[in-house]
Amino acid sequence: MTKFKHEYVLCPVCQKHKFPVIVDYSDCPYCGWCHDDVSEEEADIAIGPNHLSLNDFRTRYRRIIEQNPSFYYKRDGYPDASDIENS
Ligand SMILES: [Zn+2]
Repeated sequence: MTKFKHEYVLCPVCQKHKFPVIVDYSDCPYCGWCHDDVSEEEADIAIGPNHLSLNDFRTRYRRIIEQNPSFYYKRDGYPDASDIENS
């Protein structure tokens, strides 16, 4: 992908939010993913502002959405981990 300042990339977790291509460490309002180029390139490593690896974050987000299809991070925050694991 060609990188220009005015271009956007879809959130790597939920594909709903558009982040600027230039990494700004903003949070996705839908899933809470922090736009961080290191963790987006190293999808299996938990590093940087996100406390999970990208792949683990995706897995968690999928579980959250299964239980609550209208989940919106900016409004709901994250559910307790126990709520997710007991599905
Ligand atoms: Zn997202």
